[in-house]
Amino acid sequence: MGNFRDNIRRVEPYVPGEQPKRLDVIKLNTNENPYPPALGVTAVREAFSDEQLRLYPDPASHALTSVLADRYGLDEDQVFVGVGSDDVLAMAFLTFFNSDKPILFPDITYSFYSVWADLFRIPYERPALDENFRLVKEDYYRDNGGIIFPNPNAPTSLLLPLSEIRDILDHNPDSLVIVDEAYIDFGGESALPLLKEYENLLVVQTFSKSRSMAGMRIGFAMGSSELIKAMNDVKYSYNSYTMNRLTLLMGQEAVKDEAYFRESLDKIIRTREEARGRLEELGFHVLDSRANFLFASHKSVPASRIFEELREAGIFVRYFRQPRIDNYLRITVGKPEEMEALYQFLERYR
Ligand code: PMP
Repeated sequence: MGNFRDNIRRVEPYVPGEQPKRLDVIKLNTNENPYPPALGVTAVREAFSDEQLRLYPDPASHALTSVLADRYGLDEDQVFVGVGSDDVLAMAFLTFFNSDKPILFPDITYSFYSVWADLFRIPYERPALDENFRLVKEDYYRDNGGIIFPNPNAPTSLLLPLSEIRDILDHNPDSLVIVDEAYIDFGGESALPLLKEYENLLVVQTFSKSRSMAGMRIGFAMGSSELIKAMNDVKYSYNSYTMNRLTLLMGQEAVKDEAYFRESLDKIIRTREEARGRLEELGFHVLDSRANFLFASHKSVPASRIFEELREAGIFVRYFRQPRIDNYLRITVGKPEEMEALYQFLERYR
């Protein structure tokens, strides 16, 4: 009796950062953009009709993939879109990581990777970042079933130079290499130009951070038409209509407004650079961030305590109770006035 339980797929799910019910908090815990999306995004939302609700969306998301292809200098069949980069990455794991050999990703990285690997029963190994949280490229020069890492890495915020990505690709002609560029727009050099030279490279980006649209859920992958077709075949075998009509329209508008995109990135980068100095003055060791968050450790007060006390004061940051990083806080770059409130609170730990 009850043997059906033996056949339940048991997984340890990914735990996202807290989404507090209260709206009166300072939310620096899930790397959202503090600024609103481009004006055109709001305009299409207001013009969206009931008729558009009634009809299925375009399963190929053509209008959005073509705008993205134009923006990034690719052919349209080189772009895949999904429901946030989480959906795109999950689809990529399912499509490309089908070897008996382990896939490789760093010991400290986006914690969803091991969850998808477990879910899809993909073997994996996790080469350790060095003592300064730098990725050691030589650790990826060995037989493997595929490679994935974020650049900049999360939650460390550190950027891997393009020359090292090239080295990893040169040593792995037989592996699919995914570079997760969720944070690349905040000052990193994208691996996108390498697509011309490496047929085994897939670059994944998102609208959640640099385009202020975490709530709409848009992510995209860029690669050869062969890789993108393989991903689409898997997608159409799973759910044809992942992208809804409103999201597709809003996404196009966000990409078209390049001036606004640059302006909000500049503001966040300026606030980040200021924040690094301010946090150092307050007694923190802060890693050299190229993302929209900072990874910081206080010289004497445990991160877990600061995290809890900030939370009680209505300032949410992210804390990972995990080996090697359990004395660090990940702090999303907010508006200057939100950061001021943070610095003021942190004065007590000086
Ligand atoms: N990759 C990395 C490294 C991330 O930090 C995140 C944000 N949680 C994602 C992918 C997924 O973001 P989204 O699904 O909102 O595009």
